[in-house]
Amino acid sequence: MPTFHVENFGCRATQADGAALERQFETRGLARASAAQADLVILNTCTVTNSADQDARAAIRRVQRQNPLAKIVVTGCYAQRAPQEIAALPGVNAVIGNSHKHQLADIALPIFSDLGWRSASSAAIDPVNLIAASAAEVGSRGNHQGFLPLSTLTENRELRTENWIFISDIFAHTELLAAPVFEAVGELTQNARTRPNLKVQDGCDNRCSFCVIPSVRGHSRSLPFPQIVREVNTLVAAGYREVVISGINLGRWGRDLAADSGLWASGTIQEASRLEPTLGNLSPTAEIRNPRPAPAVPMPEARSPKPNFESLIRSILAETQLEKLRISSVEPMDWSDDLIALIAASPRIAKHAHVPLQSGSDAVLRRMHRKYRPWHYREKIEKIRAAMPTAAIGADVMAGFPGETNTEFEATRRLIEDLPFTYLHVFTYSARPGTPAAAMPNQVPVQIARERNRILRDLAAEKKLAFMQSLIGKPVEAITLNVAHSKSTGEFTEALTDNYQKLFLKGHHAPNCWLAARIEDLDDGALVGLLT
Ligand code: SF4
Repeated sequence: MPTFHVENFGCRATQADGAALERQFETRGLARASAAQADLVILNTCTVTNSADQDARAAIRRVQRQNPLAKIVVTGCYAQRAPQEIAALPGVNAVIGNSHKHQLADIALPIFSDLGWRSASSAAIDPVNLIAASAAEVGSRGNHQGFLPLSTLTENRELRTENWIFISDIFAHTELLAAPVFEAVGELTQNARTRPNLKVQDGCDNRCSFCVIPSVRGHSRSLPFPQIVREVNTLVAAGYREVVISGINLGRWGRDLAADSGLWASGTIQEASRLEPTLGNLSPTAEIRNPRPAPAVPMPEARSPKPNFESLIRSILAETQLEKLRISSVEPMDWSDDLIALIAASPRIAKHAHVPLQSGSDAVLRRMHRKYRPWHYREKIEKIRAAMPTAAIGADVMAGFPGETNTEFEATRRLIEDLPFTYLHVFTYSARPGTPAAAMPNQVPVQIARERNRILRDLAAEKKLAFMQSLIGKPVEAITLNVAHSKSTGEFTEALTDNYQKLFLKGHHAPNCWLAARIEDLDDGALVGLLT
């Protein structure tokens, strides 16, 4: 039986795409294998920073060295951004951009038909090199909503003729590739995976001046509600007790779905939720328990005439038995009063708000083309904290954006100091080809950007510690993970609290159980607690 291996780089969205690619190959009869042994290795790349590109190139070299007979297919965001650059690298057999990712198995299998592979639907794909036509097509549309056309984003290197490139204008595509991702914090090397992540939205209609993502992922688009319910119900039936929903711009879910599309009416939802599960190999190691009956959910009087993120959350709670829903990153302006109240009121939604900040300087936010000002941001975070006094509140922050002065950086530092963050993801700015920010004057020297990054990380560590200390003596809810710790003070089971803190729970406990505990102490960057 021919074998395949998918290796993912970058964010959860890319990992969700990778999980869907694995489904594509498995349903066509291929078996999984390691990168060192597979016949076909798919590298699903990221391009959000320069170092992400370097990681992908290093992986190509590694696979070629470890498994010289493998056919290497490169897909993902780097493939979409710079297909010719990748195709020119030794060892690469095909480059398939995000534009063609939903057809990747049907494209790849006929290309490598000399290995005897056949695909039932391969006749639908004409295996021709599409890049010349598509680059011309993209170029003819000119500067697409502030971004350079694809043809100018790629380096003009000579192509090796035996390579295949499948790529076209990402903005012409509306497909959304997604399957649950099962890795969880602290469990990457363990068998039990307890917190699947489900991508329900892809693409972005914002145009932040530093960001390459819209040009490689296209317009914002939503996974239709029946499919979301089907995936969540399948995960619940397989024994999962928490599901994380994510997207590139998650708060925009539903904006592209028509109210009368038939994908939102409750009759259609009920019909869809009766469909057979589509997921395979889902079982966590913990015994599957009967889910608790779903508590009543505050529902709107009638379903919103136009789907939006808040109505999605309400409907997931109403139409599934999911015990805990965790919401990943939502842009500041999508934190409506309704959304905050909904999360605060429901015990089935994790008390966790991730709200990208990027900068606390008004001038920098304007140069970034972000849609909010620092005072809007402050107001949102203060509302979230007032509604949920012990919620995790996190942010993405960028250090060293072009032209960032000491005064502008200080505005960011002060805003972070003032606000009740419990963690931060701090990034150093990295110029991405074709983005407006890459052409801005006064690029910040990398040593200064790194020093600002360090200052913000130190501040984040102080705030995290203060938050953890504030939890001592308080009750928490936590889901047990499949990680045991033996310490001088005894045996502990690792868990993740509802408010996103690592917890060492005294004693041995089965994984994948929601338990109530009381925090006693801190140890090694984690809470220490006892069952109550
Ligand atoms: S909101 Fe801005 S940073 Fe986020 S994906 Fe969209 S363009 Fe990029």
